[in-house]
Amino acid sequence: MTLNILFSARPTFWKQYEAPLPRALAEAGIDAQVFQPGDVAAEDVDYIVFAPNGPVEDFAPFTRAKAALSLWAGVEQIVGNDTLAMPLARMVDTSLTEGMVEWVTGQVLRHHLGIDRHIVNPEHEWKFVIPPLARDRVVTVLGTGALGTACAEALVALNFRVRGWSRSEKQIAGVESFSGDAGLMAALEGAEIVVLLLPDTPATENVMGARAFAAMAEGGCVINPGRGPLIDDAALVAALDSGQLAHATLDVFREEPLPEGHPFWAHPKVTVTAHTASETRPWSASQSVAENIRRAEAGEPLIGLVDRGAGY
Ligand code: NAP
Repeated sequence: MTLNILFSARPTFWKQYEAPLPRALAEAGIDAQVFQPGDVAAEDVDYIVFAPNGPVEDFAPFTRAKAALSLWAGVEQIVGNDTLAMPLARMVDTSLTEGMVEWVTGQVLRHHLGIDRHIVNPEHEWKFVIPPLARDRVVTVLGTGALGTACAEALVALNFRVRGWSRSEKQIAGVESFSGDAGLMAALEGAEIVVLLLPDTPATENVMGARAFAAMAEGGCVINPGRGPLIDDAALVAALDSGQLAHATLDVFREEPLPEGHPFWAHPKVTVTAHTASETRPWSASQSVAENIRRAEAGEPLIGLVDRGAGY
C-alpha cells in the first residue's frame, strides 16, 4: 500500500525537501507519496513530517496518522499540543549531531585557548599567556542526550576533564556522569566551561541561575546552544558583571531573533550567534524521517520518541 506523507512546514522548507525526502523514502524501500497541506485529505494521511510555524497546528483531523515526525530536535513548541494524540518523534540526525559537535568543540577551544586575546589586541601587546592543557580543564555538559553525548565524547577525545548531567543515570566512556536534581551542583562545582544541551521543559527553565553560576569556577564560561529559557538572563548578566563569569556564548534566546536593545547585544562579555549552532540538513534529515517510517511500519520503536510527560 502506498503511504501518504504530509509535509507541513514553511514553503522554503518544502523547496529543500521536495527532492531528498521522496528519494530517501525510496532508498529505504518505502512506497510513499509526499503531499503538501491541501493536496491530501487529513483522514488519508499516514505520517506527518512537520516543523513549527508550518500550516498544521490542529492534528485532530489526522485520524489515520501513525506518527508525527519533527524536523527539529527541540519539540517545546509542539509537545503540549493537545490535538496531537499520535506518537511524536523529535529529530535525531547525523548531520545535526556533527554540526553541533563542530560548533561546541570550536566554542570550547576558543575559551580554553583564550583565542580572543590575540584576535582583539588593539594595543599590539605581546601577550605570553600559556593556557592549561585540556587535561587540566573541567568542562561540564548539561544534557547528555543525542547531541550532548556526542559533544562530550568529542571533548573527551581532546583530553578535557568532562562531566555530564542528565535526568537518568548514564555511563559515557571518559565522562564523569551526574544525574537528577541532586547531581546538578556536583556537576557544576568548579567547572570552568559549561555547555548547555538540555531541552526546554518546565524542569529545565532557569537551570543556570545565580546558584549555578556561583558553583562554577571563577572566570568560567557558559556556552548555550540548547534553548534560551535554560538561563536566567538577569543572573547571567550579574555573574558576568561581577567577574564570576568571564564570558557567555549564546546561540539561543527566550525571544528570537534577539530583540534590538537586549543587554546581551551590547555586553562586552557576551557573544551572540543567531541560532546557528547546528542545522538539520535536508539530505540527512530525510534519511532519518525515512528510517523512522520504516521502523513504524515494521513495528519497531521510533528513534527520538518524545516522552510527552517529561516534555522532550
Ligand atoms: P535529547 O537527546 O532529548 O537530550 C536531552 C538531554 O537532556 C538528555 O540527556 C536528558 O536526560 C537531559 N534532560 C532533560 N531534562 C532534564 C532534567 N530535568 N534534568 C537533567 N537532565 C535533563 O536532545 P538532543 O537531541 O540532544 O537535543 C538537546 C537540545 O538541543 C534540544 O532540545 C534543542 O533544544 C537543542 N538544539 C539546539 C540546536 C541549535 O542549533 N542551537 C540544534 C539542535 C538542538 P536523559 O538522557 O536522562 O533523558
